[in-house]
Amino acid sequence: APAPPPARHLFSDPAEVAALRRNLLAWYDRCKRDLPWRELVWVALVALLSPALLPAVWVSEIMLQQTQVATVIDYYNRWMQKWPTLQALAQASLEEVNELWAGLGYYSRGKRLQEAARKVVSELAGQMPRTAEDLQKLLPGVGRYTAGAIASISYGQATGVVDGNVIRVLCRLRCIGADSSSPAVIDRLWDMANVLVDRSRPGDFNQALMELGATVCVPKAPLCRECPVKQHCQAWRRKLFGKQTVPDVEDCGVGDCPLCPPATEPWDSSLGVTNFPRKAAKKPPRVMRTATCVLERRGCHGAPEYLIVQRPSSGLLAGLWEFPSLPLVQDLQEEKEREELADHLQAWMGRPIAAKGLQFIGEVVHIFSHIHQTYVVYSLHLDGDVTLDPALSPSRWVTEDEFHASAVSTAMKKV
Ligand code: SF4
Repeated sequence: APAPPPARHLFSDPAEVAALRRNLLAWYDRCKRDLPWRELVWVALVALLSPALLPAVWVSEIMLQQTQVATVIDYYNRWMQKWPTLQALAQASLEEVNELWAGLGYYSRGKRLQEAARKVVSELAGQMPRTAEDLQKLLPGVGRYTAGAIASISYGQATGVVDGNVIRVLCRLRCIGADSSSPAVIDRLWDMANVLVDRSRPGDFNQALMELGATVCVPKAPLCRECPVKQHCQAWRRKLFGKQTVPDVEDCGVGDCPLCPPATEPWDSSLGVTNFPRKAAKKPPRVMRTATCVLERRGCHGAPEYLIVQRPSSGLLAGLWEFPSLPLVQDLQEEKEREELADHLQAWMGRPIAAKGLQFIGEVVHIFSHIHQTYVVYSLHLDGDVTLDPALSPSRWVTEDEFHASAVSTAMKKV
């Protein structure tokens, strides 16, 4: 078994743990932000007494993954208004879910939320699992973090959570400078979160720790002087007093401590507390080019209509609608791009499309989490009736308003 980490990276003093909980919770009670999913004062009580309700925490936590609070609020309110109960969500169609989710990104989240609600209704007799272990085991799309958040906030289980904000706070509190995305460090942080969580107010404690990371212990310019737990923070002490009071890297595990910064990247005093956390460099995103064509016709009332087609039901942007698009190989000449797009459109239209007729509009760049996508945008006006081939994937003509109300991605709206 690996040796336990040195004491400086742990919370091993019960008196310090108790003081940290007290200070953090008192700050949270004073300063917490008003967020719609906190409006239900008795969130836990409501969840316990009304098992048919869709747990607010579940929806908000799934929406908040990789997404800013300010963006989520409107989506969250519309979602809860439309599907307040597990039953209502279970009966929704994927199309409705995608329409409401349109613009929020990472579309599989909405789909899996709905699949999980169906599972609760059809296989678990409408009863949400109530422990982190069961939530993670039984519900699709619910990982360790979301399970911990639902179990602690909705059902009062004394279990910790570790998200990006908590990683930052804990790494600073305990001077953890090893790669914070490595499984070994993540495991230690979970252990730490489980030790720290307040036994009588676990949901509030977890939210307080995340709130601290979101509002005070922020990535670039943390507000250490206002921080309610600064007296427990080793990074802060190190910044204030230098290494006389806090053992240096070399004192910890004699240079091979698994939680200290690597010997090649020691403490940089110009960075202060932002020496922590550290992450291995990200892989560069994949570069992709896609030709897309906005096909336009006159609708029966004379208003322009545009053709949108549905993407496959799995993979990137699964089930969403888009203008007919074709991924391109890199370094294709423009003329060749046009020809390939014209051939692709011909398959949809069932009639020849002249490459020359495609009007180049411009390029749109959209960054997905791991893909740097450039859409090369063309347009084409069609005269007369167009019969679409029903054997191909679903397609439909929409007005501009209908386009915006459809389940289309932000990238397509930019196009
Ligand atoms: Fe973060 Fe500064 Fe507070 Fe430490 S003192 S937890 S670095 S805000």
